[in-house]
Amino acid sequence: ATLALSACGGSSSDSAGSDGGNGGGGSKVEGKIGVILPDTKSSVRWESADKPALKAAFDAAGVESDIQNAEGDADKMATIADGMITDGVTVLAIVNLDSDSGAAIEAKAAKQGVKTIDYDRLTLGGSADVYISYDNSKVGALQGEGLQKCLEADKKTDANLIYLNGSPTDNNATLFSQGAHSVLDKVSTYKNVAEQAVPDWDNDKAVTIFEQLYTKVSGKVDGVYAANDGLAGGVISILKKNGQNGKVPVTGQDASIEGLQNILTGDQCMTIQKSATGQAKALAEAAIAMVKGDKPETTGTVEDETGKREVPAILLDPVSIDKSNIQAVVDAGDLKASDICTAD
Ligand code: BGC
Repeated sequence: ATLALSACGGSSSDSAGSDGGNGGGGSKVEGKIGVILPDTKSSVRWESADKPALKAAFDAAGVESDIQNAEGDADKMATIADGMITDGVTVLAIVNLDSDSGAAIEAKAAKQGVKTIDYDRLTLGGSADVYISYDNSKVGALQGEGLQKCLEADKKTDANLIYLNGSPTDNNATLFSQGAHSVLDKVSTYKNVAEQAVPDWDNDKAVTIFEQLYTKVSGKVDGVYAANDGLAGGVISILKKNGQNGKVPVTGQDASIEGLQNILTGDQCMTIQKSATGQAKALAEAAIAMVKGDKPETTGTVEDETGKREVPAILLDPVSIDKSNIQAVVDAGDLKASDICTAD
């Protein structure tokens, strides 16, 4: 199928905007950085966007790195962390699978004199030296605004909404949902008819869960808040089955190929771009400062209520993407237009 992205027409640039590096290349930094990504079933981002962006950022900065994936298994993450510490990493960054297991890894690392970073997800009750993420409350608010915009475009003033939230063990999922509610709950003609969290953000479980909710409300739904593109894909598959795809706007997040293609075909209303290139660069810069014994430059702090502490943080700015500005994802260097335009 041919997709109607301006970049698909060939007039726009197909090249990645930046090389993800700091241009420094060559110069060698002492130390080694370990990164543990969470899984492969909650979002394609970890393997397809973050991993290559991280590798590129570390390589460009001239620092040795080891990037692994815990495949959804908290015990496995702990084992990988032990191995990295034994192997002599100076800084360890994790995307926790839940706060308790993340906090245990961070406490153990600290004991061995290894600095830790929370990458993307805040470990509640943890001891990370710094948190690097996007402004997650803003992500949720942008999702809410995006859904409202799509409903208004469809002239749906009275709307039944279903919320499909991310994993209850992910602090981000809480912030996303709160952000979306902060916008949508203000519209008095919107009704929250069903809401459920998807354990571990499992994209397959999202299909079953959404089908149950859809049946429960007898298909009377006008808009769906889906917390990321993977969950949105599950929702769209059920809407398709019922001939409702494209008629019921669905939100997303991660600007994945699947999400962007669903936007181009009209089945998905919007997504959120959280450039992996940008986030990886922020991690590489912070980690290198820490390797050198310096404090990384932060943008502020975030509150960890469980741990009763203010965590130094680098929060980046998310971008709302719909049909009109998909090119921004290409411009950020995260995907090539040809990745998005080639439908299978
Ligand atoms: C991330 C999202 C991702 C989700 C599932 C969240 O913590 O912020 O980008 O889609 O986890 O992996």
